[in-house]
Amino acid sequence: MRAKAVPALPKNSPAPAANVAYDRNNVFARILRGEIPCQKVYEDEHVLAFNDIRPQAPVHVLVIPKGEYVSFDDFAAKAPATEQAAFVAAVGKVARQLGVAESGFRILANHGADANQEVPHFHVHIFGGKRLGRMLPRE
Ligand code: AMP
Repeated sequence: MRAKAVPALPKNSPAPAANVAYDRNNVFARILRGEIPCQKVYEDEHVLAFNDIRPQAPVHVLVIPKGEYVSFDDFAAKAPATEQAAFVAAVGKVARQLGVAESGFRILANHGADANQEVPHFHVHIFGGKRLGRMLPRE
Protein backbone atom coordinates (compact mmCIF):
# COMPACT_ATOMS: atom_id res chain seq x y z
CA MET A 1 0.00 0.00 0.00
CA ARG A 2 1.33 3.45 -0.90
CA ALA A 3 1.47 6.02 1.87
CA LYS A 4 -0.46 9.25 1.29
CA ALA A 5 1.67 12.30 0.63
CA VAL A 6 1.77 14.51 3.72
CA PRO A 7 1.47 18.22 2.92
CA ALA A 8 4.40 20.26 4.19
CA LEU A 9 3.62 22.52 7.15
CA PRO A 10 4.24 26.20 6.59
CA LYS A 11 7.37 27.35 8.43
CA ASN A 12 6.74 28.53 12.01
CA SER A 13 3.12 27.35 12.00
CA PRO A 14 1.99 26.55 15.55
CA ALA A 15 1.27 22.91 16.32
CA PRO A 16 -2.54 22.51 16.50
CA ALA A 17 -2.94 21.47 20.13
CA ALA A 18 -0.02 23.47 21.44
CA ASN A 19 -2.32 26.42 22.03
CA VAL A 20 -4.95 24.57 24.06
CA ALA A 21 -4.83 25.78 27.66
CA TYR A 22 -3.84 23.17 30.24
CA ASP A 23 -6.65 22.30 32.67
CA ARG A 24 -5.11 21.98 36.16
CA ASN A 25 -8.15 20.06 37.36
CA ASN A 26 -7.79 17.16 34.95
CA VAL A 27 -7.63 13.79 36.68
CA PHE A 28 -3.92 13.19 36.02
CA ALA A 29 -3.00 16.63 37.38
CA ARG A 30 -4.91 15.67 40.53
CA ILE A 31 -3.05 12.34 40.72
CA LEU A 32 0.27 14.21 40.40
CA ARG A 33 -0.74 16.50 43.30
CA GLY A 34 -1.70 13.47 45.40
CA GLU A 35 -5.39 14.49 45.54
CA ILE A 36 -6.47 11.22 43.89
CA PRO A 37 -4.78 7.88 44.60
CA CYS A 38 -3.13 5.78 41.92
CA GLN A 39 -1.43 2.39 41.75
CA LYS A 40 2.06 3.67 41.10
CA VAL A 41 4.45 1.44 39.19
CA TYR A 42 7.29 3.91 38.54
CA GLU A 43 8.34 7.45 39.39
CA ASP A 44 11.34 9.66 38.73
CA GLU A 45 12.04 13.39 38.57
CA HIS A 46 10.09 13.90 35.33
CA VAL A 47 7.71 10.96 35.01
CA LEU A 48 5.00 9.01 36.85
CA ALA A 49 3.56 5.66 35.73
CA PHE A 50 0.51 3.95 37.21
CA ASN A 51 -2.04 1.26 36.39
CA ASP A 52 -4.99 2.27 34.24
CA ILE A 53 -8.20 2.26 36.30
CA ARG A 54 -10.06 0.40 33.51
CA PRO A 55 -7.44 -2.01 32.18
CA GLN A 56 -7.89 -3.23 28.61
CA ALA A 57 -5.12 -5.85 28.79
CA PRO A 58 -3.42 -7.85 31.59
CA VAL A 59 -0.78 -5.10 31.61
CA HIS A 60 -2.20 -1.62 31.07
CA VAL A 61 -0.08 1.17 32.48
CA LEU A 62 -0.18 4.91 31.85
CA VAL A 63 3.06 6.88 31.69
CA ILE A 64 2.75 10.63 32.17
CA PRO A 65 5.19 13.52 32.32
CA LYS A 66 5.08 15.61 35.50
CA GLY A 67 5.01 18.81 33.45
CA GLU A 68 1.80 20.40 32.23
CA TYR A 69 1.29 19.19 28.65
CA VAL A 70 -2.16 18.71 27.16
CA SER A 71 -1.30 16.10 24.57
CA PHE A 72 1.45 14.45 22.56
CA ASP A 73 1.51 17.41 20.24
CA ASP A 74 1.84 19.86 23.12
CA PHE A 75 4.62 17.74 24.68
CA ALA A 76 6.50 17.43 21.39
CA ALA A 77 6.20 21.16 20.71
CA LYS A 78 6.95 22.54 24.17
CA ALA A 79 8.78 20.10 26.45
CA PRO A 80 12.52 20.66 26.80
CA ALA A 81 14.73 17.96 25.28
CA THR A 82 15.71 16.70 28.74
CA GLU A 83 12.05 16.02 29.61
CA GLN A 84 11.36 14.38 26.26
CA ALA A 85 14.42 12.13 26.62
CA ALA A 86 13.51 11.29 30.22
CA PHE A 87 10.00 10.37 29.14
CA VAL A 88 11.12 8.01 26.36
CA ALA A 89 13.66 6.38 28.68
CA ALA A 90 11.00 5.96 31.37
CA VAL A 91 8.58 4.25 28.97
CA GLY A 92 11.32 1.75 28.13
CA LYS A 93 12.20 1.25 31.80
CA VAL A 94 8.57 0.70 32.78
CA ALA A 95 8.03 -1.85 29.99
CA ARG A 96 11.10 -3.78 31.17
CA GLN A 97 10.02 -3.48 34.80
CA LEU A 98 6.56 -4.84 33.89
CA GLY A 99 8.17 -7.86 32.22
CA VAL A 100 6.70 -7.21 28.77
CA ALA A 101 9.84 -6.10 26.93
CA GLU A 102 10.59 -9.68 25.87
CA SER A 103 7.05 -10.91 25.20
CA GLY A 104 6.03 -7.73 23.40
CA PHE A 105 3.93 -4.68 24.17
CA ARG A 106 2.16 -1.81 22.50
CA ILE A 107 2.50 1.87 23.28
CA LEU A 108 -0.28 4.22 22.32
CA ALA A 109 -0.92 7.94 22.73
CA ASN A 110 -4.33 9.38 21.91
CA HIS A 111 -4.13 12.95 20.71
CA GLY A 112 -7.26 15.02 20.30
CA ALA A 113 -10.82 14.36 19.23
CA ASP A 114 -10.33 11.88 16.38
CA ALA A 115 -8.30 9.67 18.71
CA ASN A 116 -10.85 9.97 21.57
CA GLN A 117 -8.36 11.48 24.00
CA GLU A 118 -10.28 11.54 27.29
CA VAL A 119 -7.78 13.01 29.72
CA PRO A 120 -6.14 16.28 28.62
CA HIS A 121 -2.73 15.56 30.15
CA PHE A 122 -0.28 13.86 27.79
CA HIS A 123 0.05 10.15 28.49
CA VAL A 124 1.23 6.99 26.84
CA HIS A 125 -0.58 3.69 27.36
CA ILE A 126 1.54 0.54 27.67
CA PHE A 127 -0.45 -2.60 26.85
CA GLY A 128 0.87 -6.13 27.18
CA GLY A 129 0.57 -9.54 28.79
CA LYS A 130 -1.38 -11.13 25.92
CA ARG A 131 -1.47 -11.23 22.12
CA LEU A 132 -2.79 -7.79 21.27
CA GLY A 133 -4.01 -8.39 17.74
CA ARG A 134 -4.02 -5.77 15.04
CA MET A 135 -3.34 -2.12 15.69
CA LEU A 136 -6.76 -0.82 14.70
CA PRO A 137 -10.01 -2.65 13.97
CA ARG A 138 -10.60 -3.01 10.24
CA GLU A 139 -13.51 -0.90 9.04
P1 AMP B 1 -7.23 8.44 26.79
O1 AMP B 1 -8.46 8.08 26.00
O2 AMP B 1 -5.97 8.07 26.07
O3 AMP B 1 -7.25 9.88 27.25
O4 AMP B 1 -7.26 7.49 28.05
C1 AMP B 1 -7.40 7.93 29.36
C2 AMP B 1 -7.22 6.72 30.26
O5 AMP B 1 -7.16 7.18 31.58
C3 AMP B 1 -8.35 5.69 30.17
O6 AMP B 1 -7.80 4.43 29.76
C4 AMP B 1 -8.90 5.66 31.59
O7 AMP B 1 -9.30 4.37 31.99
C5 AMP B 1 -7.72 6.18 32.41
N1 AMP B 1 -8.08 6.80 33.67
C6 AMP B 1 -9.01 7.74 33.90
N2 AMP B 1 -9.04 8.07 35.22
C7 AMP B 1 -8.06 7.35 35.82
C8 AMP B 1 -7.58 7.22 37.15
N3 AMP B 1 -8.11 7.94 38.16
N4 AMP B 1 -6.58 6.35 37.41
C9 AMP B 1 -6.05 5.61 36.41
N5 AMP B 1 -6.46 5.68 35.13
C10 AMP B 1 -7.45 6.52 34.84
